Amino acid sequence: MHKGKFGTAINCMDGRTQLPVINWLKRMYSLDYVDMITEPGPDKMLSQGKAEQVESIKSRVLISVNAHGSDTVLIVAHHDCAGNPVSKEEHIKQVKECIKRIHSWKLPLNKIIGVWINDNWSIEVIE
Ligand SMILES: [Zn+2]
Repeated sequence: MHKGKFGTAINCMDGRTQLPVINWLKRMYSLDYVDMITEPGPDKMLSQGKAEQVESIKSRVLISVNAHGSDTVLIVAHHDCAGNPVSKEEHIKQVKECIKRIHSWKLPLNKIIGVWINDNWSIEVIE
């Protein structure tokens, strides 16, 4: 049964970031669907959140990986984030911490990508 190729985005709940993330991921990695895990300021929550917050994100990534076969995970930070109103430099530092954390979960992933969404709502790759 062909069910399509899935990716996973750990994105902000901000409505302005949804379509840019979906469209970019589909285009860059030839995906059919993007499983969206949203939080207010996900870069802060995954890098500095309480254990249960981190665990909640991880449990949703696991559903995407195990049930949908996703092997591509994206962590997103963006301009004008109400949930995490820090400087761009701080966002980028947090995204790098998030990438390390996702690596530490030792999931069968092909790509772990961190991006910044700028004030034009276009995507810049952090790493
Ligand atoms: Zn945000």
